Parts: sequence; structure tokens; C-alpha cells
Amino acid sequence: MNRIAIGKTGLKVNRLGFGGIPIARVDESQAVETVLHAVESGVDFIDTARNYKTSERRIGIALQQTNKRVVLASKSQGRTADDIRADLETSLKELQKDYLDLYQCHFVRDDQVYQEIIAPGGALEGLMQAKQEGLIGHIGLTSHSLDLLERVVDEGLFETIMVCYSFLEPKAKESIIPKALAKNIGVIAMKSFSGGVVDDPQLALKYVLSQPDIIIIPGVETKELFDQNRKVFQGSYSLSPAEKLKIETIRNRYGKSFCRRCDYCQPCSEEVPIQLILGVRSALKRFGKSFLQEGWPREAIDKARICSECGECLERCPYQLPIPDLIKENLEWVDEQLKA
Ligand code: SF4
Ligand code: SF4
Repeated sequence: MNRIAIGKTGLKVNRLGFGGIPIARVDESQAVETVLHAVESGVDFIDTARNYKTSERRIGIALQQTNKRVVLASKSQGRTADDIRADLETSLKELQKDYLDLYQCHFVRDDQVYQEIIAPGGALEGLMQAKQEGLIGHIGLTSHSLDLLERVVDEGLFETIMVCYSFLEPKAKESIIPKALAKNIGVIAMKSFSGGVVDDPQLALKYVLSQPDIIIIPGVETKELFDQNRKVFQGSYSLSPAEKLKIETIRNRYGKSFCRRCDYCQPCSEEVPIQLILGVRSALKRFGKSFLQEGWPREAIDKARICSECGECLERCPYQLPIPDLIKENLEWVDEQLKA
């Protein structure tokens, strides 16, 4: 597997990493077996998160069964120093480690959250303290907003960024990826399969792999799916005319319904979490049905029900998505799933 440096962290990993979401939706033995298989096959970068349910614990169990060295990354949505410290301690316990290579401020959606985490007493301060104590090696940030990432890269407070990148969301390739790489900030690409929307994972993978110097972290829940990804990784990334045509067809099909999670449509006067509700189908694919019944997804669904169809968000969406209609469709779909 070809190896790259993660920015200036001094870490070197294979470009094909492992994303920790899908292993949370299968039984534990299958999850552990899948992680072990990936690691034994050469994966040496694993990314998980505090809020990926059982993911950290299962990765921890798998890593106890191998001597292979893995660069381990996790993340938390704690916004204060105390909250992220508490989450980091839980991550270490779940992963059965006393040190993590990378800990990231997770899902920093906009400038307001960014200001919160970099302020005195914020998450960044908590992670810097943890780094000084030798609990973590490096500090990163993940966001769906290219505008925010632009600022993060400019300010240079974080050693890695995680960005959405796929053929349905190719914009990062022109802006944030080259900019971050030029500043020697490590780039981890997420959502290669556009959150499960693209039903041709091999094509999706080929597309993102053709962008050099970034780590990709496709998540899989079986050994077979991992082997399919590895096969793509080991092959040629050049796209045939038929594959390019297929990409165009998929782009056209989803152009007016795929939410890029940029949040330009906010603020909504009713506080509807638009991107969460528009992404509910792909979230269910990734996290499993129980995801709909508890925590923030449940709250997001309840809030979406109060959409007044005022239409204010329509003007703000750069992709002209028919947001109120999509909210309605998704809520109907959620109700069907909950009934089934
Ligand atoms: S149409 Fe619905 S989601 Fe959009 S701004 Fe109005 S209340 Fe919010
Ligand atoms: S609805 Fe449009 S503006 Fe809102 S997050 Fe999705 S793509 Fe961005």
C-alpha cells in the first residue's frame, strides 16, 4: 500500500485507512473480525469517534489481538476543555490505550463553534493540555464546511483537517485540499461514498484515490467489502469514458436532492436542523435503524416537524435544493421506517 506523511505530524500511513462507523451496526464478533482483517491486510490508520456508538470499544478489542502498529484517531464534539477531556478519557478506556495518535474536534459546523473551541477554556486548550501530558500526539479538526476549513487552515492551529470529498462533493479538490497540503496540514477525506448515496462504491473510491496525498477512510462492516476496496486501491485510478459518463449521470440524478451539508441555508427561524434531516436516509444506512429512535437524530426529526415551509432557506441554498419539499419527503420516509 502506498504510504504518505500526515502533514508535519511525523506520522506516515497507508492512504487507504479505515472509517469506524459501519462496524457499529453489525454484531461484535463480525465488527472485530473486520477490523482485524483490515489491519492484517495493511491498514494502519483507523478513525473513529466518541459518538459512533460501539465503534471505539470494538476497535479496542480488535487491536488487542494484533501486534501491528496502527495510527489511531478519534474525535469528540466536546466544546469545552473539560468536556473534551472527559470524552478523551472515555475514548482511551474504550480503545484500551493510554495514548492516541490523533484526537479531533468533531463536526465543527460553523465559525461560532470554532470560536468556542479555540477560546480560553475551549476544547483546543483541553487537547493541548492532553498533548502536553502525553495522552495524545496530535490535534485535528473535522468539518463539513469548506468556508470554515479555509479559516482553520489559514490560522494553522490544527495539524490535520477532515473534509468531505467525493464526486458528488468535489469542491474541496480545488480549494481546501491543495491549500492545506501546501501548509503541510494533513488531509483526511471523509464521505467518499457521499454518505452511502452513491451505490457504486468502487467508482467512488477510484475517484477519491486519484487525488494524491490525502488519506481516505471508507468504512466497511465485512471482510469482503474491505477486500473490494483494497482491490480498487491496488489498481489503476484512471477513469474510463464509461465511468466518467456514469459519474455525470449520478451527479445529474442527485444534483437537486443531495445535501452537501454546507449549512448555508441556516439560520432557520424554526431552528430546523436542515442538513441533518436531509441526510437522514444515508445516516440510517450507515448507523442502522436504531439510530432513528434516540439522541440527536430523534431530536432533529422532532424539530423538522415544525418546519413552517416559510421558504427562507430556499434562497440561501447554493444548490437550489427544494428544502421544504425534501424535509417533508424525508419525514414521510422516517415515519414509514418507524412503522415497519
Ligand atoms: S422552510 Fe422550514 S426549514 Fe426552511 S427556513 Fe423555513 S422553517 Fe426553516
Ligand atoms: S440544504 Fe443546501 S445550503 Fe443547506 S446544507 Fe444542504 S446543500 Fe447546504
